[in-house]
Amino acid sequence: MLNGIGMGVRVVCPYCGFGCNLLIDPKSRRVKPYPGEPNRGKLCPKGLYALEHVFSKDRLKHPLKKEGESFRRISWEKAISEISTKLKEIIEDYGPGSIAFIASSKVTNEENYLIQKIARLLGTNNVDNCARLCHESSVHALKLTLGDGVQTNPYSDLERFGAIMIWGYNPAETHPVVMQYILGAKRRGGKIIVIDIRETLTMRFADYRLVIKPGTDITLANAIMNVIIEGNLYNKEFVESRTTGFSEIRMGVKKYTPEYAEKVTGVPAELIREVAEVFAKAGSGAIMWGMGITQQISGVENVLALVDIALLLGYFGEKGGLYPMRGQNNVQGAAYMGTLSEFLPGYIPLSDSKFRRKVAKMWGVEDLPTERGFYLTEYWDAILKGDLKALYIVGENPAVSDANALKVRKALTKLDLLVVQDLFLTKTARFAHYILPAAAFCEKEGSYMNSERRIQWSFKVCDPPGESKPDWEILVMLARALGLKGFDYSKVEDITREYFKLFPALRNRSIEELKARGIIIPAPRLYVDSFNTHDGKARFVAVEQIMPWEEPNGEYPLILTTVRLINHYNTGEMTRRSPSLAKMSGESVVFISREDAREYGIEDGDYVIVETRRGSLRLKAKIAKIQKGVIAIPFHFDANLLTNDALNKAGTPEFKFSAARIRKIEKE
Ligand code: SF4
Repeated sequence: MLNGIGMGVRVVCPYCGFGCNLLIDPKSRRVKPYPGEPNRGKLCPKGLYALEHVFSKDRLKHPLKKEGESFRRISWEKAISEISTKLKEIIEDYGPGSIAFIASSKVTNEENYLIQKIARLLGTNNVDNCARLCHESSVHALKLTLGDGVQTNPYSDLERFGAIMIWGYNPAETHPVVMQYILGAKRRGGKIIVIDIRETLTMRFADYRLVIKPGTDITLANAIMNVIIEGNLYNKEFVESRTTGFSEIRMGVKKYTPEYAEKVTGVPAELIREVAEVFAKAGSGAIMWGMGITQQISGVENVLALVDIALLLGYFGEKGGLYPMRGQNNVQGAAYMGTLSEFLPGYIPLSDSKFRRKVAKMWGVEDLPTERGFYLTEYWDAILKGDLKALYIVGENPAVSDANALKVRKALTKLDLLVVQDLFLTKTARFAHYILPAAAFCEKEGSYMNSERRIQWSFKVCDPPGESKPDWEILVMLARALGLKGFDYSKVEDITREYFKLFPALRNRSIEELKARGIIIPAPRLYVDSFNTHDGKARFVAVEQIMPWEEPNGEYPLILTTVRLINHYNTGEMTRRSPSLAKMSGESVVFISREDAREYGIEDGDYVIVETRRGSLRLKAKIAKIQKGVIAIPFHFDANLLTNDALNKAGTPEFKFSAARIRKIEKE
């Protein structure tokens, strides 16, 4: 059986970007792990309990329209007709640049493809997805140096490598199933190096643990390169034949001696030397990173430094790979389908007129808008300034997920039209003029792309509740009401077929193959012989230490960072409605070091107020293994009321570094 080799219906996990497949028995609703790739018979708690939120009593079942302070039920026909009329009026009055879309990293490729198609046919590139909040820094750096903004190798390669460097990334909690590959490497003698600002769960499995001061990653990376170059440990043949810019790097890292780096990062010089040598002598290696690297003001430069390390050692193709590990189950697919305001599908820049016209021709128009749209993280100021009047959100919750969330919430009140398609009445949906109820992951079909670029088909298990519909059906209704041509799809595969035509890597592949096995595009392993640059060579880019946007001071003496918990996901709208997951940790906490707790007179379990320049939160204190001067809050609750919305070059906020203060609540 195509849909699950007879063991249940095969469905892609709705949570992280690792892309596990679940086998669901439609009658008993039991979830089992799929034995094949990529999860090889394993699931984490989120996957095991993935059905619980689907059957929550909180599911939206009918379209709703805001009247006064409350919502009233409305028919689909009336909702779509009123929304499309209002959108057309706004475009007529203010131009297409006054409307914007937020696509979703949780809906299918087909649905994301439709969102950007609608936006661009209406004349705007104001279409973005939450990759902007996480790995857009990686995309910018990887495209600049290697040619493609994606993970270079499949997960299965991890087991073969001599060393794995895990940097600003805690897979044991964020992508638990990838740990089987990492531990596979360790069992075969591979060395595991973990670099983070706190002692994470992943560190327990490490051979080398480097706890660094927040925001000093570039100094550490440059010091590692300094040891590799000065010790003649780099791969000369690779550097000469496959890269450009080596002399720039050699000069750039000269001053970053391990002794200098020790003063900046807090990591002992001897440990830096040892780790650099171990990684260089391993013969093959991977660098994996997460939000700890990208969600900084220096996010793009941090990734450039990691790429430089891999280039020095020639860790590409059979010898190694780069793994920017994606957070949500279809964040890779959403970006690939073109829901980024500076890229067409396939990360093709808007300036590529040949490809742009090819897409336009396929959609029955002459050309598409060429100017980049607002980044999602720029929407809020644009709304407050009056430049954006309408916002259409599919399956995202920016009132909780975006930095400086109070500003986001204020902006949401200023719109002439806010439409939200979702499963639940999220904090964002409460601001909407119209709420459209959407089907959950197992109530529809379609494809998703995981972090290793594997496109996988997800089959339907059950019908959506009430009048809720798959997002693609809602979008087709909207497009037709807007008078857009090219939306004559009768089933989801019609959309799949259309996006297949856009990508050369899918030209000779079939939907049957996709349904049966999945397809990794363009190939499982990139850059085996050459890079995707104009001369086929990768480019070194030397980077200097960049200091965080907000320095701690007398008023705000601590550094606040955000972290993830194993049982929660994103803004918690799904996992908090899963009783089995919610009971593992229901209340938000702030992690604080024993030393700081003593200094502030705080005991484990005390309630405290944490404040930044943007807001304050009441939280329970939890004493943890975290360095003095740093406090951490799980991002799934309302941590973003506090976080800094200063943007880096890729438009990603500095979620990971805010100056903060803490005080105990004496009496309540
Ligand atoms: Fe789902 Fe990720 Fe857990 Fe796999 S590791 S079950 S994809 S949340």
